[in-house]
Amino acid sequence: MKTKFVYLSILLAFSLSGVNAAVPDCQSVVIGSGVAGMKAAMDLKDGGNKVCLIEKMPFPGGATNLAATYFVAVGTKEQKAAGKFISVDDYVARQKKMLPNVDVDKLKAQMLCSQKNLDYLNSLGANITRVLSDYQIGTADGTSLGSSIVKVMFKALKEKGVAFYPNTKALDLVLKNGVVTGVKVRSGNEEFVIPTKNVILATGGFAHNQKLVKKFAPEWAGLPTTTAVGSTGDGLEMAVEHGAKTAYTDVVRMNPSVHSENGVNSSLSVDFSHYFRWLFANFRECSLIS
Ligand SMILES: Cc1cc2nc3c(=O)[nH]c(=O)nc-3n(C[C@H](O)[C@H](O)[C@H](O)COP(=O)(O)OP(=O)(O)OC[C@H]3O[C@@H](n4cnc5c(N)ncnc54)[C@H](O)[C@@H]3O)c2cc1C
Repeated sequence: MKTKFVYLSILLAFSLSGVNAAVPDCQSVVIGSGVAGMKAAMDLKDGGNKVCLIEKMPFPGGATNLAATYFVAVGTKEQKAAGKFISVDDYVARQKKMLPNVDVDKLKAQMLCSQKNLDYLNSLGANITRVLSDYQIGTADGTSLGSSIVKVMFKALKEKGVAFYPNTKALDLVLKNGVVTGVKVRSGNEEFVIPTKNVILATGGFAHNQKLVKKFAPEWAGLPTTTAVGSTGDGLEMAVEHGAKTAYTDVVRMNPSVHSENGVNSSLSVDFSHYFRWLFANFRECSLIS
């Protein structure tokens, strides 16, 4: 499913609060600065777009900062050299046994991107070379995977000239005749609309939104989560509110992690739905998200 909404260009920026000065000039707005949003922003910039990357938190990276251990990659030259090689077809067959409902075609398409994605991140300096298994590779020195990725991607993004707006929360999509023409945001005390040609929703998961957890994974409702506080499913809610169709919402990924509260240890982190995973995967040929 694509998240790109195209419309006839609006030339004048306007502000709901009557303040025009702070409205950025953006051909494309990417909402959310995790790995998905940063890659989308850089790809759009490479395509000649004037890109604005907006982020509701004061810093970039979202849940990507928390990705602790391994990059999922299959059939890479690093794994071959380490004697931990499995073909993509064998890996997909193995996954199919464990997860009968897995979308085999999409899994295969993503896994075929393993080397390309790994080489891309390492070309930026992520140093993901320590082979852990036939489908897992970690950073060479054991540094947390996600923070390494965010560090190098954010650096690359700034070098490319992508404008980054922290503390800027997308509140809603603005539509005209069924076509998205802008994004309503809150920055500080001000609410205004950023007019734009393209909007990419890359707002990550929804584990911190109990309403959505109850709706899509009622069996996990009420459990604590160790994911990022910004993971509240904003993009999903915005898109659905305007009639977007969803897919893969029946598949919610859980990360095993320990949460202690009042002497009780829980061990689940509701992470994200595959809906968002494949949303990004379809945007470009190869997704970076495992
Ligand atoms: C504890 C933990 C460990 C993990 N370990 C691994 C691992 O070892 N390997 C692995 O591959 N994956 C791991 N993952 C999963 C991985 O981190 C995520 O799948 C991935 O980072 C998701 O990237 P994303 O860009 O889609 O979302 P995010 O990185 O969450 O980015 C979304 C961004 O959007 C922002 N945002 C949300 N709403 C708005 C709004 N309305 N306006 C503006 N900005 C908004 C958020 O603040 C956030 O910065 C782990 C996840 C967790 C929680």
